[in-house]
Amino acid sequence: MVTKKSSKPKRASAADAVAEQLERYRSMRDFRITREPSGGGKLKSLDEQGLPFVIQKHAASHLHYDFRLGWNGVLKSWAVAKGPSYVTRDKRLAVQVEDHPMEYGGFEGIIPKGQYGGGTVMVWDQGTWEPQPGHTDVDEGLRTGSLKFIMHGEKMKGKWALIRMGGKAANERKPNWLLIKEHDEFERGENDPSVTEEEPNSVVTGRSLDEIAKSEDHVWNSKESATGNAWYRNDSPAVKNGASAKSSAAGAKARVAGFGSALRKAPKEKLPDFIAPELALQSETPPPVDEWLRELKTDGY
Ligand code: MN
Repeated sequence: MVTKKSSKPKRASAADAVAEQLERYRSMRDFRITREPSGGGKLKSLDEQGLPFVIQKHAASHLHYDFRLGWNGVLKSWAVAKGPSYVTRDKRLAVQVEDHPMEYGGFEGIIPKGQYGGGTVMVWDQGTWEPQPGHTDVDEGLRTGSLKFIMHGEKMKGKWALIRMGGKAANERKPNWLLIKEHDEFERGENDPSVTEEEPNSVVTGRSLDEIAKSEDHVWNSKESATGNAWYRNDSPAVKNGASAKSSAAGAKARVAGFGSALRKAPKEKLPDFIAPELALQSETPPPVDEWLRELKTDGY
């Protein structure tokens, strides 16, 4: 008989959507995300998917946007205090920070206070990016401080540039770059609404920072990132102010009770007279390998 190995349920909740997201980024960790060293311009792997980017809105000590481009198996990262602007005259300060592990790009949830980056993290936008024609040597661009690329996101579209500032700033431990919109059909005028105000919420779950903070469904544990247990899912209702596990169990009970009262209101129906059992089916070929486990069935039915 065959059993579905990982039945993928429909997204039941925001927490499920985040879990799916984390899984997707985790799978990217194993690919070398890079281009052929010279010429060709063909992507090695992830070729159909393209190079990933993610922008995480991060309410830490100050609200900022973490701008991350997937490259060579990591997320090259910049902290952009004001977030991106579609006005080509705006030059947004983007402080380059350490490369982040690919998996982190899928994270939306809470980082406990006191840990690096403690606060609330939202996946504000994501998609793919590619170098602009004539600027395809990304490693060179990172070295010389000039990246020109095209973004294919939900909110981030078209041509953008990251330019490292010269002079003293170039030698800082965390180099200062500028994130700049380049002229194209997506640019906006000074009086147009800003993308950060117009679309403030998560591109994955539609939640606001407050909603993410309240639900606490996923927690990132920076201290464990080396062991591969960097995050955990927290399905009990948010427990604040050091309340004990007991009160979270009480919360679960309350939810069940709520379900019961909803059931009582539902119209009563009779059970059907006959429910056909689900029998095994004969087939000539096994189902596709990836999603299924097989075991020999010897009971004759
Ligand atoms: Mn951050």
